[in-house]
Amino acid sequence: MTEPADLVARVRDGDIRLHELEQHADADTAAAARRLYVEEETGADLSVAGEYAFDAADAASAIENMVGAIQVPLGVAGPVPIHGGEAEGTFYLPLATTEGALLASVNRGLSAIRAAGGSTARVIKSKMTRAPVFRVQDVAESVEVVEWVRANTDKLKEAAEETTSHGELLDVTPYVVGDNVFLRFGYDTKDAMGMNMATIATEAASAIVEEETPASLVALSGNLCTDKKPAAINAIEGRGRTVVADVRIPRELVEERFKTTPEAIAEVNTRKNLVGSAKAGSLGFNAHAANTVAAMFLATGQDAAQVVEGSNAIVTAEAREDELYASISLASLEVGTVGGGTKLPTQAEGLSVLGLRGGGDPAGANADALAEVIATGALAGELSLLSALASRHLSSAHAELGR
Ligand code: NAP
Repeated sequence: MTEPADLVARVRDGDIRLHELEQHADADTAAAARRLYVEEETGADLSVAGEYAFDAADAASAIENMVGAIQVPLGVAGPVPIHGGEAEGTFYLPLATTEGALLASVNRGLSAIRAAGGSTARVIKSKMTRAPVFRVQDVAESVEVVEWVRANTDKLKEAAEETTSHGELLDVTPYVVGDNVFLRFGYDTKDAMGMNMATIATEAASAIVEEETPASLVALSGNLCTDKKPAAINAIEGRGRTVVADVRIPRELVEERFKTTPEAIAEVNTRKNLVGSAKAGSLGFNAHAANTVAAMFLATGQDAAQVVEGSNAIVTAEAREDELYASISLASLEVGTVGGGTKLPTQAEGLSVLGLRGGGDPAGANADALAEVIATGALAGELSLLSALASRHLSSAHAELGR
């Protein structure tokens, strides 16, 4: 059997390259050799990173140059009843984070939602996008391409859907900028987050556009998609799941759990989440939705970089006569329960905690349910932080007023 030290010696001799170790040993030995090499080069001790509980071959098919695993603490918040379009029942939420107080904050919010009878949640729209950019000669050609696409969307749909048994092309929206034509392809990707699926399907459809029109493909992603960058198009049009969760909490419960009033929470929300965010030019009209989104993404194997889009969320809070109404609307939550990192063992366990591992029945139901659960968790985090700010404000106001 090949020893890690032998592989390192061969790397040092220039016989093999560091990224090629899997071609000369099994995945665990290759990772051990790479770890040893990095330890020797940097003086770092990677012994804990080398203690992982999954099969390196599973991870090596997903990432390159593996040396081990970062272990992020996993906690649980809840239970919380959710009355969703697909998430129906009582859920414990898995959250992986290194941030102290996050679990406590989400848990506090969930406990108030639970006492109020649970959240209501719905996926409003589900569409993963990929927008290639094509070059043309001039605007006359741009318009020619756009007209062809509008008249032949069925041809593009046929070509795209030949590449996938689950994905469906919903629409193609053209955008013209001078001699650039962007085609924003929108797919129902069912239980997959769908970025690979949409990219492969769009490549096939783009070949038809090139064959039948004067357009030349410049890049399969033209950034109008928009993946992993803050973008107003996602906040307005949505991307992945557009999901809303809300709750009505009786006034006495707000006062008992949050030590404040619906009016004070609504005021903090208006002045901070709405006015403050508007003044800052923020796309996120919320306090810290990305915290819950990031922790649940890590716990369930989502693509962590898409927390960027997950922060496109608007929170509303309204003091009614006998209750607080609060909602969160996440415009572009990109989630899946199959594919990508969801297959890795600990992440699959995270999905199991929610009962949402693998494909749903019908396909798409599990990813919709996951979006509804994450939205409820994010709403809980908002309620907890807003009320903490509101109660501090109230207590200082009380002190100032001497009562
Ligand atoms: P994937 O792992 O590439 O594909 C998931 C596949 O699962 C689908 O294509 C589908 O096969 C199959 N599947 C089985 N049951 C399904 C069900 N119930 N619903 C939907 N699909 C089902 O995952 P992906 O979601 O398309 O892409 C996610 C990965 O893409 C992540 O690893 C992410 O990091 C990465 N990513 C890629 C890009 C890119 O540009 N390529 C960009 C960002 C992120 P069929 O299609 O054959 O039906």
